[in-house]
Amino acid sequence: MTAPLSTPLPTAPQLGRTECDAAPVLRERGQREVFCGLTGIIWLHRKIQDAFFLVVGSRTCAHLLQSAAGVMVFAEPRFATAIIEERDLAGMADCNDELDRIVDQMLLRRPDIKLLFLVGSCPSEVIKLDLSRAAARLSVKHGGTTRILNYSGSGIETTFTEGEDACLAAMVPGLAADASAKPSLMIVGALPDVVEDQFLRLFDALGIGPVHTLPARRAGAMPPVGPNTRFLLAQPFLGETARALEDRGATRLDALFPFGAEGTTDWLHAAAQAFGVDAMQFRRTIAPGRERAKRALAHVRPVLEGRRISFLPDSQLEIPLARFLATELGMIPVEVGTPYLHRRHLARELALLPAATRLSEGQDVDRQLDRVRADRPDLTVCGLGLANPLEAEGLTTKWAIELVFSPVHGFDQAGDLADLFARPLRRRDLLRV
Ligand code: SF4
Repeated sequence: MTAPLSTPLPTAPQLGRTECDAAPVLRERGQREVFCGLTGIIWLHRKIQDAFFLVVGSRTCAHLLQSAAGVMVFAEPRFATAIIEERDLAGMADCNDELDRIVDQMLLRRPDIKLLFLVGSCPSEVIKLDLSRAAARLSVKHGGTTRILNYSGSGIETTFTEGEDACLAAMVPGLAADASAKPSLMIVGALPDVVEDQFLRLFDALGIGPVHTLPARRAGAMPPVGPNTRFLLAQPFLGETARALEDRGATRLDALFPFGAEGTTDWLHAAAQAFGVDAMQFRRTIAPGRERAKRALAHVRPVLEGRRISFLPDSQLEIPLARFLATELGMIPVEVGTPYLHRRHLARELALLPAATRLSEGQDVDRQLDRVRADRPDLTVCGLGLANPLEAEGLTTKWAIELVFSPVHGFDQAGDLADLFARPLRRRDLLRV
């Protein structure tokens, strides 16, 4: 194993009753075309400002992170890859000794790191490097200053957004116990700070508190959890995290995800109900934001209304986004594919999808592409690798990854979210003219 590539590589830094309920789900197991869970490091390292993500992986992993992060050079990067070399793979070197040496060196040089994640990859899994034992061992040595946790971002175990789920779930057992008799609210999922601040202001105006976020912006500010914790998932891909929080006694508030005017209203309303906020006060508090969102959506609606859209499985945001596009913008979902379908968390979303929507779970990329070719939707949301071939066949595409990297939650981002779908259609319309 070689030392972290730190400078200048930027590697451092089930259902309510409606229509879609009863619809069959096509389950596919075949070749996949999705990023692995390491991708989540790109947004997680920005969110938790004193955390460091050390991927124990190969040059491919380092390369993925570097290209996903874009060409950025950090003075003090907050993610890196400890490269497993061939001799490690051949069992000729003791990877644990080398990992300890790398972590010791890094923490000596970077006392600002308060939370270190050892992130597993395909190579570390193949050689069965036990990163949970490594994290426990290193915690004994460095636990006074730095918490050390581990999770897997490998392509064998995770797709794209599951890396965030694995990371947050790894934090839950170590959260402080909240024994308070007063209920508290926890927003779960890494949101851009600006969006998180908007939600915190709204909850404050509603008189709901205390409100915590998981993850917090600092390792030392992670939320406490206990039987009086009520939590709202901000993202639909956090199944393991939700389960871990429920194991700690917390209760999930069932709601639509906060996309669009209606999704955001429902999400806020679930908290308002749980905290006994008066109906009048709720309506009055959210009215300005809701109106802004509706106005912004009305502006984009003419481009999207009546257009047919297919989603290839990618980010797990597909079902809430399809609901938003169908109910608030008049789009017609043809096929909505998702890597995993968490029926309980998505029950309300599924209930609002039009009855004719074809749902698919998992992926068999060739068969799915054949269906896209047969359906010829106006817009196909897919991964980077599939967009170019589809465009070459005259289909209009949208990169799914943009939907994860852009601020899209809440009232004030509703128009921008709609616009992400409208832009490729406008461009295509112009080219046709
Ligand atoms: Fe590739 Fe696996 Fe590394 Fe992800 S974890 S970059 S899929 S080798």
